[in-house]
Amino acid sequence: MTFRLPDLPYAKDALAPHLSAETFEFHHGKHHAAYVDKLNQLVANTEWAEVPLEDIIRKAKPGPLFNNAAQHWNHSFYWNCLSPKGGGEPSGKLADELRRAFGGFDVFKSQFSETAQAVFGSGWAWLVRKAGGGLAITTTPNAENPLARGETTLLTCDVWEHAYYIDYRNSRPNYLKAFWQVVNWEFASAQL
Ligand code: FE
Repeated sequence: MTFRLPDLPYAKDALAPHLSAETFEFHHGKHHAAYVDKLNQLVANTEWAEVPLEDIIRKAKPGPLFNNAAQHWNHSFYWNCLSPKGGGEPSGKLADELRRAFGGFDVFKSQFSETAQAVFGSGWAWLVRKAGGGLAITTTPNAENPLARGETTLLTCDVWEHAYYIDYRNSRPNYLKAFWQVVNWEFASAQL
């Protein structure tokens, strides 16, 4: 099995000015591509060669194999969490579940922003459905993701510096403001 860099689900300049074409050239074209290349090198001619990506993530020990597999998964998921038609608020079942879990969309949004802002160093902020049901905001460091905890991922925000340094330099808060302008609620709803 050879892992492939997925195409972006939109043109690389489609999210400008919130996220620039240059950001996608590097984040997708260089960073994500490098994770895929490294993953292919690590699994070639090993017991992992035919193992599906999610199984590698669930079974690999901490280390380069897990890191590159999980970063491939995380980024593939993240591209879908953004859309040129994004922004605004979710509707339907997702809106109901957010109200149930957080009391309202605005409360959720500020809690998610605060949580994403508070990630120290590289990592990810997530909206998940917990194994027992109910929505929650969670974070993971580095390459980790919520799959191994049995949680269903609905939405993620990449808070590695490489996600925002070209457009926002060191300002993660400005990146998070941009994230809400292009967040793809249709995709998040479809994960429920
Ligand atoms: Fe990234």
